[in-house]
Amino acid sequence: MTHFVISAPAVPSIPVANGGLFPVRRVYCIGRNYAAHAIEMGHDPDREAPFFFQKNPSNLDASGEFPSPIHSSDVHHEVELLVALKSGGTNIAVDYALDTVWGYAVALDMTLRDLQGEAKKNGRPWEIGKAFERSAPVGLLIPAADVGDPSSGRVELKVNGKMQQEGDLNQMIWKVPEIISHLSKYFELQAGDIILSGTPSGVGPVVKGDVMEAIIAGVGELTVRVV
Ligand code: MN
Repeated sequence: MTHFVISAPAVPSIPVANGGLFPVRRVYCIGRNYAAHAIEMGHDPDREAPFFFQKNPSNLDASGEFPSPIHSSDVHHEVELLVALKSGGTNIAVDYALDTVWGYAVALDMTLRDLQGEAKKNGRPWEIGKAFERSAPVGLLIPAADVGDPSSGRVELKVNGKMQQEGDLNQMIWKVPEIISHLSKYFELQAGDIILSGTPSGVGPVVKGDVMEAIIAGVGELTVRVV
């Protein structure tokens, strides 16, 4: 009989609002998906083809705490709409793409901006600045039927009560169905896959003791303390 030769690792998951856990297979993240954020990072906001990077499923963290990273002196918040897939496939049509969505959540794509900048400068991958431990704080997952249309809704993030990021889901350069469709041309999407859909402008640093409060209208709230 075939068996694992070591104990199988736990399946990473996201807590669901009405109870239960959503099991996570992969985590795809889109870069520069809001024009104002592309500009603040020094890039042209034209609608060029989207690009993606990945975090690790086990980077997702619903504890409400974010440990201040020891390898960075410039860790930034990026508030993002998280999209969780209940099905997948390849070459998914834009018109069908939302049928693959199980639910949505508020998430943070925490980024070690200094290490990411160094990687960019040297033409290296971004993992060290993006896919570090506990780099993706996440709120409760809300079923798609309870969220409705993800094409608009206010997005904001406050640090210690002060507004830092403000935007609207309708400012996405690539909309959620287009992101799913585009990804499915390059990857076989499956149930359990997660997409972080990009951040509006206003990204900035946090330090130990800061409290981040993120809200996406119609989806929910996420409060995370930097510890
Ligand atoms: Mn991001």
